[in-house]
Amino acid sequence: MRRDKHFNVDLDKDPNFVNGEVTILSPKKQNSKSKKIIESQKIAKENRYGKKVYIESYGCQMNFSDSEIVASILSKQGFKNTDKISSADLVLINTCSIRDKAEKTVRNRLHHFNSFKEKNRSLKIGIMGCMAERLKEKLLEEEKIVDLVVGPDAYKDFPKLLEEIEKDREAINVILSKEETYGDINPVRINSNGVGAFVSIMRGCDNMCTFCVVPYTRGRERSRDPKSILKEINQLSKEDYKEVTLLGQNVDSYLWFGGGPKKDFKKASLLQRKTAVDFSKLLGLVASEHPKMRIRFSTSNPQDMSINVIKTMSKYENICNHIHLPVQSGSNSVLEKMNRKHTREEYIELIDKIKEIIPGCGISHDMIAGFPDEKEKDHKETLSLMEYVKYDFGFMFSYSERPGTPAARKMNDNVPEEIKKRRLQEIISLQQLHSRYHSDLMVGKKVCVLIEKSSKRSDEFWSGRTSQNNVVVFPKENYSVGDFVDVVIKEATSATLKGNAVAISPNI
Ligand code: SAM
Repeated sequence: MRRDKHFNVDLDKDPNFVNGEVTILSPKKQNSKSKKIIESQKIAKENRYGKKVYIESYGCQMNFSDSEIVASILSKQGFKNTDKISSADLVLINTCSIRDKAEKTVRNRLHHFNSFKEKNRSLKIGIMGCMAERLKEKLLEEEKIVDLVVGPDAYKDFPKLLEEIEKDREAINVILSKEETYGDINPVRINSNGVGAFVSIMRGCDNMCTFCVVPYTRGRERSRDPKSILKEINQLSKEDYKEVTLLGQNVDSYLWFGGGPKKDFKKASLLQRKTAVDFSKLLGLVASEHPKMRIRFSTSNPQDMSINVIKTMSKYENICNHIHLPVQSGSNSVLEKMNRKHTREEYIELIDKIKEIIPGCGISHDMIAGFPDEKEKDHKETLSLMEYVKYDFGFMFSYSERPGTPAARKMNDNVPEEIKKRRLQEIISLQQLHSRYHSDLMVGKKVCVLIEKSSKRSDEFWSGRTSQNNVVVFPKENYSVGDFVDVVIKEATSATLKGNAVAISPNI
């Protein structure tokens, strides 16, 4: 049962609940009630003058992007961002549920925040994101220091939730929406280097991979109005940002036909179908409007990636030559149990097309070791797929059973921990060899690098990335953050290229 504590109504049973708002039927009453709400929120905002919020984010890039949306909503409520917990009045942690370890990390951080709450009794602590959505009220019961729980689709409810916690009452809203895309919110960039920004283009996921908690924590797939996406990128361009990453759990499935869940496209009118914007169109629109900006995107799902997207990438120089294409396993039997809607052969066909249309395209992956019933033969097929593709890099995980997912409900987590560990290590070792192979090929070559920040190892070196997403470090000389620079590569490790700058690059 979903319960909105501050209204104390069972929202599943409330026919008046729309998108995180409880509406009142009588228009007359509604008017006076909304006026009162607006008035009380105005006073609350004035009282918050000078208050500070500290936001910490975990998990996928979407979470980091969501934190910027929340920072924007809170700035309208009078809050300023701080990067110091000790000076915060409100601490928010944007959480990830993808693996058990991610949730444990958040629980440990909450213990750490407790020491601040002991020193400052008026400090409020809130949990946002996927863990908030997965655990709901349980979080308030289990973690006594938590005042506020907000799911990924309920951030616009912050004004009301804040009023509750300011009255020392716990507040929760974990309602998932079929419409919300936050397209009307202009994010406040947090910890930004002023060079690259995330732009969320869609929310939710309809893929229902059996291992994955995302459809349950982020809801149905819906796309954001391309006009609002372009408006956000225009603003970033005016602020001199040089790179945008278009974000979604499954960007290739992007489809704008006037709003609402993607599953409703089958009910769309002829006009809606004719004027619909898919991902290849969106990519082309963004790239052509901003030829001086680099465009990246993440994440792609093999079954949804179209040849049109690959062709659009090859058409525009400013779309980076890198595709993150999670496969999860090289075995058809495991892919089927994972409900990945592609086979090993179809994946290979797609990889071949990418290599044919965009020679030298960087390709990365996500891989899971030790999914239920994974046999040694399946694992060997994963390694042989990796040998075939020779990925530039990858994110590799040991299977972690997530409560409520189809895999948890219907399968046994029956690969022993030490076997999962050994298989994962073999996958990681092979990836390191392939990353090193790609890096070595770069030695002696000239590459265009967008400077992002000082290198972690030395303040005398810049760190930036190539179009293929290789990290390159080189002496700073007179170059600046945000410059596109031609760099000749002198040395390579599996993760980093080292070189010397030649000149400002005519390319991007
Ligand atoms: N939407 C993307 C996809 O599925 O292709 C990314 C989803 S998730 C945020 C990122 C990665 O976490 C997945 O690609 C998968 O490799 C990994 N992952 C998801 N659920 C997992 C689980 N239960 N155990 C281990 N790894 C998991």
